Amino acid sequence: MRYNVAQLLKEPIGSTRRYQVEETYTENIQIAERVAGPVRMVRTHQGLLVHADLDIQKILSCSRCLGEFDWHSTLRIEEEFFPTVDLHAGRRQTSSPGYEDTSYIDASQVIDLTDIMRQYTIAELPMKPLCQPDCSGLCLHCGVNLNQAVCDCNAGQRDTRWGALAELLNP
Ligand SMILES: [Zn+2]
Ligand SMILES: [Zn+2]
Repeated sequence: MRYNVAQLLKEPIGSTRRYQVEETYTENIQIAERVAGPVRMVRTHQGLLVHADLDIQKILSCSRCLGEFDWHSTLRIEEEFFPTVDLHAGRRQTSSPGYEDTSYIDASQVIDLTDIMRQYTIAELPMKPLCQPDCSGLCLHCGVNLNQAVCDCNAGQRDTRWGALAELLNP
């Protein structure tokens, strides 16, 4: 997700570029399996404002049944990037204090959206991912995935719980 913005940085404030992101990650699965959507970059007074609406798809493990499932979400990114090098003087700009989190355009005038996308993805991830809202989870006794199979443990449990009553009824 790297874009050369050298030309855009030379243009007047308000100049815009549009891109369509379509990325599939096979190795770097920390971010996502697939990211797609429009990106818009606008030249600002000091740098570039990046807007992106990215549909993200990631494989997560369900916190109840531990099964893997496809998680989908939309990242609405809005972030201003500043040049690390003064465009006119060609020297390195000193970063202002308190701006450690600022996103920078690197010295070769390339914006890399990977890092910002990772941050937004982490913020968006569910604390307790569920494969489906009413996931039945695993049986506490035999460990079977109750979404896929029915085990006898529940029946057995009910038998013992009602055992005393059943004996009274059927002596
Ligand atoms: Zn589940
Ligand atoms: Zn069971």
